[in-house]
Amino acid sequence: MSEEKFAFQAEVSKLLDIVAHSLYSHKEIFLRELISNASDACDRLRYEALTRPELAGGDNDFKISLEIDKKAKTLTVADNGIGMTHDELTENLGTIARSGTQSFVEQLTDGGENGGDMALIGQFGVGFYSAFMVAKKVEVISRKAGEESAWKWTSDGKGEFTLAEGARDAQGTSVKLFLEKKEGEFLEAMRVRTIVKTYSDHIGVPIQLKDDGTDETLNEGSALWARPAKDITSEQYKEFYHHVGQMFDEPWKILHNRVEGILAYTNLLFIPSSPPFDLYDPDRKPRVKLYVKRVFITDDCEALMPSYLRFLRGIVDSEDLSLNISREMLQENPKLAKIRSGLVKRVLNELKKTASKKADEYAKFWDNFGAVLKEGLYEDFENRDRILPLCRFRSLAGDDAISLETYVENMKEGQDDIFYITGEDIELLRKSPQLEGFKARGVDVLLMTDPIDDFWIGALGTFQDKPFKSITRGGADLDKIALSDEAKEKEAGDDAQETPGIDQLVAALKMALDTSVKDVWVSARLTDSAVCLVADEGDMDIRLERILRQSRRMGEAGETPRILEINPKHGLIRRLAARVEDTGAAGADAISASALLLLDQARILEGEQVADPIAFAERLSEVMEKGLA
Ligand code: ADP
Ligand code: MG
Repeated sequence: MSEEKFAFQAEVSKLLDIVAHSLYSHKEIFLRELISNASDACDRLRYEALTRPELAGGDNDFKISLEIDKKAKTLTVADNGIGMTHDELTENLGTIARSGTQSFVEQLTDGGENGGDMALIGQFGVGFYSAFMVAKKVEVISRKAGEESAWKWTSDGKGEFTLAEGARDAQGTSVKLFLEKKEGEFLEAMRVRTIVKTYSDHIGVPIQLKDDGTDETLNEGSALWARPAKDITSEQYKEFYHHVGQMFDEPWKILHNRVEGILAYTNLLFIPSSPPFDLYDPDRKPRVKLYVKRVFITDDCEALMPSYLRFLRGIVDSEDLSLNISREMLQENPKLAKIRSGLVKRVLNELKKTASKKADEYAKFWDNFGAVLKEGLYEDFENRDRILPLCRFRSLAGDDAISLETYVENMKEGQDDIFYITGEDIELLRKSPQLEGFKARGVDVLLMTDPIDDFWIGALGTFQDKPFKSITRGGADLDKIALSDEAKEKEAGDDAQETPGIDQLVAALKMALDTSVKDVWVSARLTDSAVCLVADEGDMDIRLERILRQSRRMGEAGETPRILEINPKHGLIRRLAARVEDTGAAGADAISASALLLLDQARILEGEQVADPIAFAERLSEVMEKGLA
C-alpha cells in the first residue's frame, strides 16, 4: 500500500507552531513525555495480557529502550507495549484527544514572541508533540499487540503527516527523532542519563540506554509506590505525580501509605496545588488509577474514589483484589468499596489536620477545591459530618473565610440560627438590603457564591444542632437579638416615632400589587433601603429558583410569588404612608404606580428582571418628570 497523507487537526497545528517557535529552556522534557507514553503502553499491554497472554508473545519483560545513533543523529525511544493500529496512529498522533489539552490550547494566545505562554507549556507538558521541540522529523513505527502488520507514521511537524506500511519484529512502538543540528546534546549518553534520572527515575519498567554497543539500565525499574517512603526523594515523588496525574505543578500534599490487615493496599495520592483543567468537566470523573499487584487495571474507576474528590491524582495498588477482575465488575466489588471508604477517610483526615495546624496553607487548598469538596455534602451522606467542618465561608464580618465552628462561637445572644445568603457576586452580596438588620445587630452572615451552595444547604439542615437559615426567607427572627449600640443611637436619632398610615399603606400595596406578590410585610431586617423581596418560609429560595429556571429544571412551574418587605423608617415609605392615610378609601389608586415601581426596585435588587421593562421605563420617566416640575 502506498503512502497516505493526513492533515493535523487545527489545534495540533497551532500547538506545533508554538512548540516549534518556543524559546522554552527545558526542551529536555520531550524525553519525559515519550518515556511516559512508553510506560503507559507497557501498562496497558500488561493488563490485556492477563486474559490474553498471547498478545505479549509470551514476553512479559516490559521495557523501554533508548537508542542513540550519532552518525544518523537520531534518538529512538522504543517500547514493547500495546502499540497502535493504523487508525490509532492517525487518531492519537493527529488530534488532541485529552480534553484538558484541548482547552489549554484554546486558551493559548498567540503570545509566542514574548514567550508569555511558553512557561505555561513547560508546566503543562504537551505530550507526544513536544518531540518537535528538538526534532526536525519524527518517525513512529508501531505494531499493535495481536496484529501482524506494522505502520509507519512520519511528520516534520508542519501541518501534515504520512502513514505507510512499516516493519517491526514484535508488538510495540518506536519513536525515532531526527534531531535538529543544534540539539546534539541529546546524542550524548551522559546527558540522556541525567535527564532520565531527573524526570523518569520513578518509571516502573526498566529504561535501557543503548549507545555504541553498550547497554545500561538507567532506573530502578520498580514501581515507585512499592519502595519505602524513606528511599523516595521529593523530586521522585514530584516527577511521578507529573507522569501519573498529567499535572505539572508542585503537589500540595502527598499521601503515601501502606495499609495491612484484612485488606492490604498501598496508596500514593497527590493533592495538586493548582486546579486541573478538567476539574469542572461535566463527567466529573475521579482520576485515581487502580493497580492490582502492580498491574495497571484502570484509570476510570468511580468505585475507587468519589466524584467530589476528583482533584486527587495518583494510584492505589492492592494485592487483595483479583487480577481477573473485569473493569465492569469493579463497581460492585465489596473489597473495593472498603478500600474506597478507607481512602476517603484518610484524605478527609489529612485535610482536617492541615486545616487545624496550617490555616494559611489550608486556605489555598480551599480556594482551589472547596467548591468541589462541597459536592460531598449532599453526595456522601456517611461523611457529611467530616466534610462540613472542613468547609470555609466568606462572611459579613470580615474578609477571611471562616469555619462553621468559628461562626457558631461568634453567635450573638438570642441568635439561634446560622444565617446565610447566596448570590453570584460577593461584593454585591455584601450590599444586599436584606443584610441591613444583621449589620445593625452585629450578627454575622455567611456569604455564599458557589452555585452548589444552594443545593447542599437545602439537604443539610443543621450544624451543631443550629439550623441554617436563609436571610432572604421569611421569618428570619431578629427581634430577639439586641441592636448594636451604634444602631441604637441611630434609631433614637431617627424619628423614633411610629409611621402613621403604615397599616393602610400595607393594605393599599397588597391591593395594588395583587397576585404579583405573595404578601406585603413591614420589615424588621431593613434599616437603610426602602424595600426588599423575601421568600416565604416554605418556598424555594429566590436564587435557587433562578438557577433551576436558567438550567430549565423548573418544568412548567411559574415563578413563585414573593413577599415584599417595606421599611417603615424610610423617607419614601413614610411619605407614601402619609399619602395613603390622607386619601382614605382611594389610597390604593393614589399609589398604584409607586407600588409597581417599589416591586420592580425590589426585583432588581434581587437580581431578577422587572416584569414589564417598557411599563417600568414609562413609570420611571413619569416620576422623574414630576420630580423635576
Ligand atoms: P497523553 O499521553 O497525555 O494521552 P500524548 O500526546 O503523550 O498524550 O499521547 C497521545 C496518545 O498517543 C496517547 O494517549 C496514546 O494513546 C498514544 N501513544 C503515544 N505514545 C504511545 C506509545 N509509545 N505506545 C502506544 N500508544 C502511544
Ligand atoms: Mg503522554
